[in-house]
Amino acid sequence: MNKNKYETVIGLEIHAQLKTKTKLFCSCSTQFGSEPNSNVCPICTALPGVLPVLNQKALEYAIKAAAALNCTVNLYSKFDRKQYFYPDLPKGYQISQYDKPVASSGYLDLSDGSKVRIHRVHMEEDAGKLVHAGADRLHGSDYSLVDLNRAGTPLIEIVSEPDITSAEQAKLYVQELRLILLYCGVCDGNLEEGSLRCDVNISLKPKGSNVLGTRAEIKNVNSFKAIQKAIEYEEKRQSEILESGGKVIQETRLWEEAKGRTISMRSKEEANDYRYFPEPDLRPLVLDKNIVDEIIKSLGILPAQKKETYINQYKLNTEEAYILIEDIERGKFFDECIKHYSTNPKRIASIINQIVYAYLNENKITLIDTKLNAQRIAELAKMLDQGIIGDNVVKKDLLEDLFYSEESLRKICKDKGLEQISDEKAIKEEVKAIIEEFPNELAELKAGKIKLKAFFVGQIMKRFKGKASALIVNNALDELI
Ligand SMILES: [Zn+2]
Repeated sequence: MNKNKYETVIGLEIHAQLKTKTKLFCSCSTQFGSEPNSNVCPICTALPGVLPVLNQKALEYAIKAAAALNCTVNLYSKFDRKQYFYPDLPKGYQISQYDKPVASSGYLDLSDGSKVRIHRVHMEEDAGKLVHAGADRLHGSDYSLVDLNRAGTPLIEIVSEPDITSAEQAKLYVQELRLILLYCGVCDGNLEEGSLRCDVNISLKPKGSNVLGTRAEIKNVNSFKAIQKAIEYEEKRQSEILESGGKVIQETRLWEEAKGRTISMRSKEEANDYRYFPEPDLRPLVLDKNIVDEIIKSLGILPAQKKETYINQYKLNTEEAYILIEDIERGKFFDECIKHYSTNPKRIASIINQIVYAYLNENKITLIDTKLNAQRIAELAKMLDQGIIGDNVVKKDLLEDLFYSEESLRKICKDKGLEQISDEKAIKEEVKAIIEEFPNELAELKAGKIKLKAFFVGQIMKRFKGKASALIVNNALDELI
């Protein structure tokens, strides 16, 4: 796409599955991966004469998510019926919220400095799932089976304003939004299991124009990579249509992952196609402001705040901070270690990211599979900071003991002869002697030939057969020259 000629306008609709134990209007389990049609009852299979009852936990989660996205929680909202026919929708309609959503007018500040406004957050129930069976490449599927385990699972739909202007920004928005939902504890954020699903609305307009172009809605975009690729594909497709003098049609398109393209699915429905009307079986949702405030107060720390602490207070760089924040368990472990040893958070971060998680990932295990705990990391960091052992020995000689032994690291290092010479006095004396031995080199170093520092370090290390603490050697050298 010619970026000098067209601008991309993107709005995202994200369906997030709320992490409740039971469904939105009945007490069936929401467990993923259960035997097909085992988590069902007369309510979620829409037998006649049943009545829905709202899951309070789902409401609480929706409020939490909305508040974390800086939305106004509406004290009055209501449920509506959205009618459409689909084989995995037994009622023939979905209970959703139409003109009075539970929350509106929020925003998300992205880490690239941009802001994406959020139009609304509403609650709704999920549909079931069709399983197309007997499929092969030549003939397509022979028949389809329906699994209603997912029918009635609570969702929130988060609708952004069309503020997103590129594929990268869209991806970042989804990533950061997902992380917020994870931190609030309202959604497990699992894209593969469909806990987070994204529809992309995208149109192009001539650069600088205020008039929006005709948009296409892309469904089934279920990974961060797919979001980016689908948008790039649409930018190209739509710009080619416009370039050749054609018109983009308003339609719903499907992202085909395997072929890396979008295909036309159906012409886009308008709201009136769904014949919304107020759900007669549920009363309007009138919330008590005090209760809403209590829920909002219980939100806890969000990723952006945490990142700020890591960068400003602990002096981590953006990348170090991001790695710790992105993985909630890793971040928690880091915080726990800092409680035991707060002198050098950067050291702790580097041990966790470069040693601990490198090992866990390589061996496909988690912390629980090992004996490692926060005190032990603190002990290791302290020993490294004090120059008792060098960085080089940790991965080489200490790794198994670090994860699986319960003996003190100090004792292990002593027994294995891994301790460095960290006698400051002895090292200083040696440094002095070396400096005197090489007056010419010293003069050159002082004149700015920085490279010679390595020469001196090398000479000193030779005297200690490589066992002196590099940290102390460097400090002593800096002090004496
Ligand atoms: Zn049920």
